[in-house]
Amino acid sequence: MATHQFDGIIVGAGGAGLMAALQASKTAKIAVLSKLYPTRSHTGAAQGGIGAALGNSEEDNWEWHMFDTVKGGDYLVDQDAAEIMCQEAVEAVYELEHMGLPFNRNADGTIAQRPFGGHTRDHGKAPVRRSCYAADRTGHMILQTLYQQCIKQGVTFFNEYHVIDLLTNNGAACGVVAVEIATGEIHTFHSKGVMFATGGSGRMFKITSNALTLTGDGMAVLYRKGLPLEDMEFFQFHPTGIYKMGILITEAARGEGGILRNGSGERFMERYAPTLKDLAPRDMVSRAIHQELRAGKGVNGKDYVHLDLTHLPAKTIHEKLPDITDFVETYMGLDPTKDLIPIQPTAHYAMGGIPTNSNAEVVIDEKNTPMPGLYAAGECACVSVHGANRLGTNSLVDIVVFGRRGGKAMAQFVQKAALQPLPADPEAPARARIDKLFNSTGTEVVARIREELQAEMMDKASVYRIEADLKKMLEIIEHLKKKYESVRLIDHGKKFNMELLEAFELEHLLQLAQVTVTAALARKESRGAHSRDDYPKRDDANFLKHSLAYPEGSGVRLSYKPVSITRFQPQERKY
Ligand SMILES: Cc1cc2nc3c(=O)[nH]c(=O)nc-3n(C[C@H](O)[C@H](O)[C@H](O)COP(=O)(O)OP(=O)(O)OC[C@H]3O[C@@H](n4cnc5c(N)ncnc54)[C@H](O)[C@@H]3O)c2cc1C
Repeated sequence: MATHQFDGIIVGAGGAGLMAALQASKTAKIAVLSKLYPTRSHTGAAQGGIGAALGNSEEDNWEWHMFDTVKGGDYLVDQDAAEIMCQEAVEAVYELEHMGLPFNRNADGTIAQRPFGGHTRDHGKAPVRRSCYAADRTGHMILQTLYQQCIKQGVTFFNEYHVIDLLTNNGAACGVVAVEIATGEIHTFHSKGVMFATGGSGRMFKITSNALTLTGDGMAVLYRKGLPLEDMEFFQFHPTGIYKMGILITEAARGEGGILRNGSGERFMERYAPTLKDLAPRDMVSRAIHQELRAGKGVNGKDYVHLDLTHLPAKTIHEKLPDITDFVETYMGLDPTKDLIPIQPTAHYAMGGIPTNSNAEVVIDEKNTPMPGLYAAGECACVSVHGANRLGTNSLVDIVVFGRRGGKAMAQFVQKAALQPLPADPEAPARARIDKLFNSTGTEVVARIREELQAEMMDKASVYRIEADLKKMLEIIEHLKKKYESVRLIDHGKKFNMELLEAFELEHLLQLAQVTVTAALARKESRGAHSRDDYPKRDDANFLKHSLAYPEGSGVRLSYKPVSITRFQPQERKY
């Protein structure tokens, strides 16, 4: 048994975890644990940009950004948190610039900005240039920049450590338990503060832009401990994934002037969003695509439409969208300067997650009571700045703003807090979980259960939902969870046992899918990314509230808490 002691542990080395580590390690002894080598985190795949009202290319201000964020989120956004995010976005982008992040530039040397879905001038009048970018590799640059800074500052990293349990004592967090992937050895990390920054859970769906590793581990580890998850019914489908593969074609392609066309070549978004057209928020564009497909207006009778970049100057495509050009050439054998690109909506972003306040402290009930020492930031958290639907570029803002705030809050906390003793036999639950998998004599295989879950979730709980499908989906999850009990591992080795890790990840996906579907079934309205065919209207009287899901027996108990509304009263959402 190996035990390590630090002031604070940060689980996850994406943008949120690294930003937190940079802040916290200025005054505290911090370790970052990551199941991936840090620069492989999904933040590195982010393409289009980070939104901030710098006003470099035209007039803009944080209040307009906040309005767009609240309206984009269909008024489920906590407005106190959104105000903080949109104000601090400006400072955070300049901080990244000063760390050396190579943003694209205007002729006068200022950071270049481009339009993005749902970002507007003066409360919806027209698209505004707000997204700061480094070609279509913005996340890559953020991740590399932050990692360099962490190395420079001497942050301690435990790379390729897979966290499977949170340790608590006396109602406070006091560490985590992890498997060292290279050896299979179990390690206990004992600390005063623990932050989860473990990213998203898009792998519960078949067609997704998310990396293989985005299995919602952090959310599930806390949920297994009895802590709630917030607004999990809201999962964003990005309109432009490469057909059948889900690989993302950034919204920046439409920001630079790209157009969506149906099977007859019509620019159909003009009918759905007369003002913003192809730059309407993602939930609306994804629904519009599904409606075109349902009306038989897909391309050649198939279930896809086209993204058309052929009218853009080749120079724009090559200089501002080099990575997606490469993807389209590599995976489809097409040339985006000449060919139309087949696309379909792809599971992209979890709006829900671990409930936190605006200092990234995890809150554990309807009254927003914080759990001492426990923090969450980034995509795994729900603060909630994205409400029912996130705007493009707002996740990168979220991770740097709330990663930083969480890092600072944790650094302050560990200065005054006492170290809680470890619970008796801290590794016992983790060891039992591993032993059960190794000793199983069942016949089920992880990959098959996962495949079935992903296909069924795609079919029954994606862009459009109805009661009958959701009920059926809950039965299927129940059945898959039973099958999971008889999972048998073929690999019984200790070193790099990826099958073992995938078994943990599958268990997490099954739990999160159950929460998602249960909360979706109970929300009898359509709001943001949650669209019920059987309840097509938003219902503020009954559902302008956040859901909280707690584990109860083999099922899920739901409860609700109010939305913070400060500046903007809910309005009808037209674009
Ligand atoms: C293809 C793509 C393009 C995108 N483009 C944009 C964009 O242009 N603009 C924008 O705003 N947003 C974009 N997003 C969304 C945005 O990139 C993510 O939401 C954000 O980067 C998440 O950052 P994070 O720090 O929360 O998590 P991640 O970057 O996903 O990092 C998660 C970390 O947690 C670690 N981890 C997870 N589980 C465990 C475990 N069990 N044990 C130990 N470590 C663990 C991982 O190793 C990793 O280091 C995009 C997303 C995708 C998929």
